[in-house]
Amino acid sequence: MTLKIDLHSHSLASDGTLSPSQLVEHAASQGVDVLALTDHDVTDGIAEAERAAEHFGLGLVPGVEVSVSWNHTTVHIVGLGVDPQNQALQEGLAKLLAFRQRRAEAIGQGLEKAGIPGAYEAARAKAKGSIISRTHFAHFLVEQGHAKSVRDVFKKFLIKGKPGHVGGQWATLEEALGWIHGAGGQAVIAHPARYRMTATRLRRLIGEFVELGGEGIEVISGSHSRDECYTMARHASQAGLKASSGSDYHGPENPWIELGALPPLPDGCTPIWADWDLPGQ
Ligand code: AMP
Ligand code: MN
Ligand code: MN
Ligand code: MN
Repeated sequence: MTLKIDLHSHSLASDGTLSPSQLVEHAASQGVDVLALTDHDVTDGIAEAERAAEHFGLGLVPGVEVSVSWNHTTVHIVGLGVDPQNQALQEGLAKLLAFRQRRAEAIGQGLEKAGIPGAYEAARAKAKGSIISRTHFAHFLVEQGHAKSVRDVFKKFLIKGKPGHVGGQWATLEEALGWIHGAGGQAVIAHPARYRMTATRLRRLIGEFVELGGEGIEVISGSHSRDECYTMARHASQAGLKASSGSDYHGPENPWIELGALPPLPDGCTPIWADWDLPGQ
């Protein structure tokens, strides 16, 4: 039996639009056997997701997607199998949350100067008490007619050089790996093709990641093209990294990304779950 495995997803605890239980229920309805909940910089949804996973009979991998600043680029590192009770992990994530809060206020000020008042309050309301992400700002700006899509908002308002851009420092690569490993997890470079790095720069990132003990890289991602999957499979095997696979599902409003709807890993990849204790294996 081939298991349906999806190791990257978001809930309302960060910038997803389904609650952890709704997410797990939806995963079950898509025939997913193993799902990782990997919210941005928080583990708040995991307890609820674990209860739902028990109810719906699927495997839940407790995860987190840590925001990292690496050589002036924001890079995401997924931690899989982390213990959410781990104190050092929580202390680390708390620092990122504090930065996120300051950044949200500054984004609001930047947009206000550009003639769009009330964005911070609106993003905060959309976040419903959880972390405030740029996605929350994006939904508000689309609703207000300032852009036609979330992607368009990023281009017009939120990236470098635009009125809602705020720079700053997330975790270092070393911190992120330290927190993930300290909490008993495996570290995976998320959606590597999304950073649009040159091959040389990506090799440098992978090299530092391997040196710090990183285990895997997302070869299959909801945001990778077919070619990018093969490119990342080559990077994985050259660096001796295991391969991960995840949709990066955020909710039903992006119908082109579905939970568990992922192609198989290319031949020659060692799955990150190779030595996990999985049902039926
Ligand atoms: P943040 O962690 O608050 O900086 O927000 C990053 C999130 O915004 C990512 O996890 C994506 O969900 C979303 N995002 C980033 N860039 C884009 C883009 N160009 N188009 C659509 N969504 C994006
Ligand atoms: Mn996101
Ligand atoms: Mn990401
Ligand atoms: Mn993600």
